[in-house]
Amino acid sequence: MIQAVRDEQGRLNVLKSYAILDTPRETDFDQLVRLAAQICEAPVAAITFVDERRQWFKAVTGLDMAGTDRAIAFCAHAIAGTGLFEVPDAYEDPRFAHNPLVTGTTGIRFYAGMPLVSPDGFALGTIAVIDRVPRTLTEAQTAALSTLARQVMVALEYRRLARLFDSAVTDYQHAHGDPYPVHACPSDQASHTGRRGRCDADVSWSKNGSVLPVHYLALYQARAAGQNSLRFVDLDMQTAIATRAALEADMRLGLERGEFLLHYQPQVDARGDPTGAEALVRWRHPRRGLVSPAEFIPLAEETGLILPLGQWVLESACTHLASWGARPGTAGLTMAVNVSARQFRHPDFVRQVLAVLERTGADPRRLKLELTEGLLIDNVEETVARMIALKAQGVGFSLDDFGTGYSSLAYLKRLPLDQLKIDQSFVRDVLAGGNDATIARTIITLGKSLGLAVIAEGVETEAQRDFLAQHQCDAFQGYLFSRPLAADLIDAFMGARTR
Ligand code: C2E
Ligand code: MG
Ligand code: MG
Repeated sequence: MIQAVRDEQGRLNVLKSYAILDTPRETDFDQLVRLAAQICEAPVAAITFVDERRQWFKAVTGLDMAGTDRAIAFCAHAIAGTGLFEVPDAYEDPRFAHNPLVTGTTGIRFYAGMPLVSPDGFALGTIAVIDRVPRTLTEAQTAALSTLARQVMVALEYRRLARLFDSAVTDYQHAHGDPYPVHACPSDQASHTGRRGRCDADVSWSKNGSVLPVHYLALYQARAAGQNSLRFVDLDMQTAIATRAALEADMRLGLERGEFLLHYQPQVDARGDPTGAEALVRWRHPRRGLVSPAEFIPLAEETGLILPLGQWVLESACTHLASWGARPGTAGLTMAVNVSARQFRHPDFVRQVLAVLERTGADPRRLKLELTEGLLIDNVEETVARMIALKAQGVGFSLDDFGTGYSSLAYLKRLPLDQLKIDQSFVRDVLAGGNDATIARTIITLGKSLGLAVIAEGVETEAQRDFLAQHQCDAFQGYLFSRPLAADLIDAFMGARTR
């Protein structure tokens, strides 16, 4: 019996995001397996990845095989955990005694596999060593294998970054209508052509003695493209990418160190009385001060960090909501929480939300999840099923930034929403005499005809509020009423207004 992997679908999705399967052999990985074999004094070593049906070898030494069926793979067992999986003697182990890799010519007696764990905690495969005699690894060998596993993951992360880089390049070319193939280039060796650098890419470099991730990337890409290929880069873009990589590493640390916090922005009804608040995440960076989510949420989405971050946001917001629930003056208030696409699509999402509600004791009927249009368009069946599962427990849904996406009436009708949130871009210019007033009015009418409440966000002036209220908008949020407030200040705000 192979132990089931927790959230196998999530694991497979993450594995796919690295785009490593069925790629050609590469020296970097070959060297790592040779090192593993040497250090562990084993005749066979491999870097494997496990997909739905097979284990595939990215690199292997001492064995002439490209992979095996998943059903007989030792690695399929190893990926159920995140630590070393060791089989000292396969003959003596009922799970493997009849395995063809043990009884056949491969003749495995000993196996030790260290899982390759992604930043979001999924074991994608292993770096494994195999012997044909029974034995174990020493403590030092285990530690070395663990280091090598981390090295494999670092290499995978660089590849992923390389793809991000590529898409940044494509975006850049698109925006600038640039006919040149843009690639990476060291800033200190570039001969400048206007704002742009130009160089032969297959060189190694360092700037002030330090090598930025983008340099590895450039080198990696240059090698992949073969020699003598000219590469160009926009120097600003290079800096941007280095900054991104640093930001990602910083965010990971920030999460560990508890640097994130929530601010709460009041939502009010037509009379101006508070009905609840929206939780908005902030990052108190040790050097940069308070960082806006606009800067880090998109990156968190790309890297998967949104999963632990989103979980933390939900937990904190629900804890706050539960504290409101315990006091008569604030017991009726609702809490809106933003949910990103990647979070919502996570197979465990519904269970996680319910577990948080249970743990914190918050009233599900007072929790409102804010989804965005882009998130809803993919796989409507699945989306509706998830929403219904949560609605059955009382959780409400609001459609954030409404009007900026691709909503069609057809699917809007199918979604069990409670509220539409008019995007602030329409609210801003509602009195400017352009289309925005018509759009805002249409959204309100649309909401009403679907039986939904309508809230306007980004309301900054009395005039905007009056216009919207006149057209039957139910609820408002914006600087006119209050900016997002720290936890103690929102309690003071609510306490003062609800007594
Ligand atoms: P959003 O959900 O549409 O949030 C509204 C944004 O408008 C907030 O920006 C808020 O501070 C700002 N805002 C509120 N009133 C006014 C106003 O009167 N005028 C103007 N100009 N702006 C106003 P913030 O806090 O910077 O958040 C930006 C976005 O980041 C949010 O947009 C949301 O999409 C995302 N975000 C924030 N917190 C989270 C979170 O915990 N999880 C996820 N997935 N996304 C979050
Ligand atoms: Mg929102
Ligand atoms: Mg919004």
